[in-house]
Formats: sequence, C-alpha cells, structure tokens
Amino acid sequence: MFNKLTAMPADPILGLLTKYREDTHSQKVDLGVGVYKDESGHTPILDCVKKAEKFRLDTESTKVYIGPTGSPDFNRLMSELAFGIDNPALLANRVRTVSTPGGTGALRVAADFIKRCNPNAVLWVSDPTWANHTGLFEAAGITVKTYPYYDYDTKTLKFAEMKAALSNVSSDDVVLLHACCHNPSGMDLTTAQWDEIIALTVEQGFTPLIDMAYQGFGDGVDEDAYGVRKMAAVVNNMILCSSCSKNFGLYRERIGACTIIGSDPSRADIAFSVLLYVVRCIYSMPPAHGAAIVETILGSEELKQQWLDELTVMRERINGNRAMLVNKLKQKGVQRNFDFIAQQKGMFSFLGITPDQVAELQEHYSVYMVDSSRISIAGIGTGNVDYLAESIAKVIS
Ligand code: PMP
Repeated sequence: MFNKLTAMPADPILGLLTKYREDTHSQKVDLGVGVYKDESGHTPILDCVKKAEKFRLDTESTKVYIGPTGSPDFNRLMSELAFGIDNPALLANRVRTVSTPGGTGALRVAADFIKRCNPNAVLWVSDPTWANHTGLFEAAGITVKTYPYYDYDTKTLKFAEMKAALSNVSSDDVVLLHACCHNPSGMDLTTAQWDEIIALTVEQGFTPLIDMAYQGFGDGVDEDAYGVRKMAAVVNNMILCSSCSKNFGLYRERIGACTIIGSDPSRADIAFSVLLYVVRCIYSMPPAHGAAIVETILGSEELKQQWLDELTVMRERINGNRAMLVNKLKQKGVQRNFDFIAQQKGMFSFLGITPDQVAELQEHYSVYMVDSSRISIAGIGTGNVDYLAESIAKVIS
C-alpha cells in the first residue's frame, strides 16, 4: 500500500537549519527558523516558566485525563488576556474556549469546526501568509483563496486592494487575519485600518478568524490585541486561534487555545458542543503541562508581572535588532532604503532581495534565510550585525 506514495517536498526551513548546522564558517548567521533567540543565539526558558513549573511539580497530584476542553482556568485566563476582562462579548457570556496543542492545533480545530458550520465555506488568507495556513485548512477539506496584502515593491500594505477584495467576500465565508506581527511580512494593520476592516466585516457578515501567535511581540500585550478586542466587541461570530509558543517560550510544550464567540450564550453553547466533538475526533484531549504553566503565571499577580517584564525584554530586543540592522546597512554605505524593516513588527520581515542574492549570501557568506528573503529578526545580534550588514551590502551592490 505504501509503495503507491510519492515523496513530499522537504520542509524548506528545516532543510535550511540542517545546512546551517553543518556549516563550519565561524561567522555563520541563521535568519531562517522563527523562534526567539537571545543575544547568544539561545532560546531560553523564561524564569517565570521555571518558577511555575517548580510550583506545579510540588503541587500536581494526578495525571488523569483532563477532558476535551482542557483546563478551565487556562481557558478563562487566555480569553481574558486576548479580549480584555471587560470585553462586551465576555461580559455577555458569549465566549467559549478550548485548550489546544499549540496554535497549529487551534487552527486545525478551527478548520474542522468551520467545515461543520458550512462545508462549502471558503477561507480567505492574506497574500502572503504563514506557509502552514493553506495546507492546514486544505487538509480539513476547506477551499483556501487569497486577498491582496503585502506589496513587495513598495514594502507597504495593499490596503485599498485588500478592502476591495474583502468587499466581495460572502457572508458564508471566513477571513483569516493576523492579530499582530504578520508572518511572514511583519506588516501590520494600523489601528485606523483595523477599524475599517472591522466595519467591513460587520457590513459583509463574513466570519473573522484571527490568528494570534505573537501577542506581546509587537507593541505590547494590550496594544497587539487591538483588532481582536474591537472585532470581538462588535461581531456576532468570531474565531480566535492563540499560541503560547512564542510569548511564553513554550514551543515544544504545544499549548494554545481556540476560542469561538457565539451570537448569544445558548448559541455559543451549541457551537461549543460542536467544537468539543471536533476535538474528540482529532486528538481527544489536549496536553496539560503547558496550560498548567500558563495558568499558574497568569493567575499570580507576581508571576504575571515577571512574565510581562520578560516579554518586554524579548520585544525590545527584536525591535532593537530591526533598528540596528537598518543603521548598520546605512553605515556600510547601502543606498537602498531599508527603513521599512525598522517600522515593521514581530519576528519577520522580507529583506526584499532576489532568490539569487539569497543563494549568494548562503554560499559565499554563510548567511541563511529562506528563498523569499524572509528573515527571522531574532537571529540578529550585536555580535553578528556588522558581518551581516557587510555581507548584504556586498551582495546587493
Ligand atoms: N500562526 C502563525 C502566524 C505562526 O507564525 C505560528 C508559528 N510559527 C503558528 C500559528 C503556530 O504556532 P505553534 O507553534 O503554537 O503551533
């Protein structure tokens, strides 16, 4: 039976990582993988996480099944973090959340849930979007189409085109929006643009699905949730997929949340019963450890403050790296304008160079990035920025 299979293409980012690891160049630079790294290139465990884990180790008394919903405390704290405690949807008891295996798990649950709401629903994603979005939704049998988003030439948002495309989306369909720190472009909606998209969502009546994988990595925990909060306050139905991988540094624990908002509490309950059925049909129940860590942190004033402080350090390092690279490129005499990198948000930006230049950077300078020239900003540091800027300058001159 297996002999009928043909091989899938290898994951380009993981292939890049293997090549990087094998490279013996003393100044090699990894701008491929999208994980946070500190100045020394390490992805640390947050101190607040260590403390929460110690607490759980001392107090946890059972490993019995947790149920398809996951931890109720985690679910409540996550929805409060996303929507703000005084959000009208929360106050009206219209919000229902399940814990999921990472943000990816949340998206897959959302996909199967959408399929049950409307088997013919089209999912509209930004062009470009996170590489996994399309495959993930198509795997659930959903047709995926794109709306214009990033202009590679001008390094700006194609906002007029985006609005025009969304003005034609049917009320039976779903539109995926990135809450903040757009992956891969780093190009976010301004608050004024969010207001316009939210008004359009209400007018058209399609369902918004917001993917929030980087809350706190852009401008701050509350600032980054602007669109999520405002959208939740005015629409009848909404889906939110959150991830704790980046902002809590819990990548391998696989913890996230899928939240739905119903038009009233009883309809929310019905939708929730479908959501739980979907969960049971995929993985039955979520892992508990990551949720236990997050709820311990968010449920303690002291640990939450420590988390916010540690998150600020990560955010400021990323934003600092953006400015540092732009300045270094200027110092190296680069004429081309790279200021957009300092203005964009989150873990990624497109450098905006050709695939040949990307290949040259890898071959001659051991600087690694994916073919699209998407760079992972956390891979930059004071130790490598000089070499990196010089290599880029040589390749584009
Ligand atoms: N959505 C986006 C936009 C992402 O960038 C990522 C992670 N790279 C995810 C979802 C999934 O995150 P997780 O690792 O929690 O599955």
